Amino acid sequence: MPNIPPEFEPREQAFFLDFDGTLAPFRMDPSAVMLPSGGNELLARFVEACGGAVAVVSGRRIEDLDRMMAPLKPVAGGLHGVEMRVAADAAIERRPPSPSVAEARARLIASLADTPDIRLEDKGAALVLHFRGNEHLEELARDIANGAVAGLDGLIVVPGHAIFEIRMAGVDKGAIVDMFMARPPFVGRHPVFLGDDTTDEDGFAGAARHGGYGIKVGSGDTIARYRLPDIAAVWGRLAAALGEDLNIDRGEMS
Ligand SMILES: [Mg+2]
Repeated sequence: MPNIPPEFEPREQAFFLDFDGTLAPFRMDPSAVMLPSGGNELLARFVEACGGAVAVVSGRRIEDLDRMMAPLKPVAGGLHGVEMRVAADAAIERRPPSPSVAEARARLIASLADTPDIRLEDKGAALVLHFRGNEHLEELARDIANGAVAGLDGLIVVPGHAIFEIRMAGVDKGAIVDMFMARPPFVGRHPVFLGDDTTDEDGFAGAARHGGYGIKVGSGDTIARYRLPDIAAVWGRLAAALGEDLNIDRGEMS
């Protein structure tokens, strides 16, 4: 695989880690996703080695991340930046949702009444259509998502792995990078953004803006400078940065 990234430098770089598909393997039921066993301890050591300059950046709610990463409470951007937590012991800050979200939600509920195989996940400020296991419904899901935002201000449809997500324009993973890079302990470091999905492209651009780079996990087009093949390679890099051997069962990382 081309463009293998250089070794991580915990004392000089800041790290932005996507969760699903980067740290945690996909599951049919998105609420059943968890870190591989031993992962949270390894991540805690990595965060410490980086002086705390590590943020988990996800489309999930931060409280969802807390449950899946317990007992770790990550510095985090959730819902692609609608939610922020700047320190493990800080409160979660939330941007108010756009009024257009309520209208889009009503349209989705009406559209999905006859389509039980496309599931609506209501994140409050964002709305996600899931069709994992029913990939033949992708075009229908896309049409429903586009119909839900038609004529509404400030909402965009973003495709992902077996999802279409409706969220507020200008709220993305790049904006999360901008926010964290302006404050300690991130400021002055070079950001490295790791992600596997289309929404991570904003994060890759954000990292480049601040003198760092992106690492795309897995296949697919990307603007990221580097690439790692899979979740196991991500954990391998985190362990290597600590001078440790990776002690996680491969079966737990796919
Ligand atoms: Mg992901």
